Amino acid sequence: MAPDAFGCDDVGVAPWRSGPDHTAARRRMVDVQLATRDITDLRVLAAMAAVPRHRFVPASALADAYEDGPLPIGAGQTISQPYIVAFTLQALDLRPGGSVLDVGTGSGYQAALLAEMGAVVTSVERLPSLAVAGRDRLADLGYAVDVVEGDGSLGWPPGAPYDGIVVAASGPAIPDELVAQLGVGGRLVMPVGGRRHGQELVRVTRREEGADGAVRESLIPVSFVPLLGEAGWSL
Ligand code: SAH
Repeated sequence: MAPDAFGCDDVGVAPWRSGPDHTAARRRMVDVQLATRDITDLRVLAAMAAVPRHRFVPASALADAYEDGPLPIGAGQTISQPYIVAFTLQALDLRPGGSVLDVGTGSGYQAALLAEMGAVVTSVERLPSLAVAGRDRLADLGYAVDVVEGDGSLGWPPGAPYDGIVVAASGPAIPDELVAQLGVGGRLVMPVGGRRHGQELVRVTRREEGADGAVRESLIPVSFVPLLGEAGWSL
């Protein structure tokens, strides 16, 4: 059987799991995994109920698209657990129409959620195969996201300043380049810590011009794939 856009073999679909549009499974994901935990932002819950997560996972993982965990998306990468994606979106506290840099496009799921919430989204991915597949998938689904290929550990200066920056891969530290690309009042949410373990999700809020105006908060322990690049881990 031909590999799909994720490089995974199509082992077949189980549409009876929740119906062809997966609405019931998505509703259950929001109710059971998000609303009963600490996701209270109605805009986040509405976006999570709207974006078809099953369109962002390989066919081989389709039956698990709305389960409470991360899933492989090919190239050794993962789409994050729905709860962690929702927690990150809530921590960003975006205003509609705000500009956001999404570092690590991967499947494009987080970028789609940001667009669904009304953000103007630039998404940067270092792996060309994922950037191309993510761009095509987002366009197919009607999400106007600018997907660019490059080292997002250095941000994406052409779009700066951003109201929000979200990083889906863990670095040894918060890159100064990313903080410098936040506008005043902007927020950055990023996992920081060991290359594979001992990571925490950190939020940096830029209150004034200059690095001194940045406030850092530790949010929750997490486990992300490594941020590979100049201001991340070496290859
Ligand atoms: N947000 C994604 C999660 C993808 S996993 C989703 O919703 O599916 C993290 C992604 O970060 C991977 O695709 C990986 O290739 C990418 N990545 C790692 N280091 C990067 C870097 N320096 N710049 C851009 N992308 C990077």
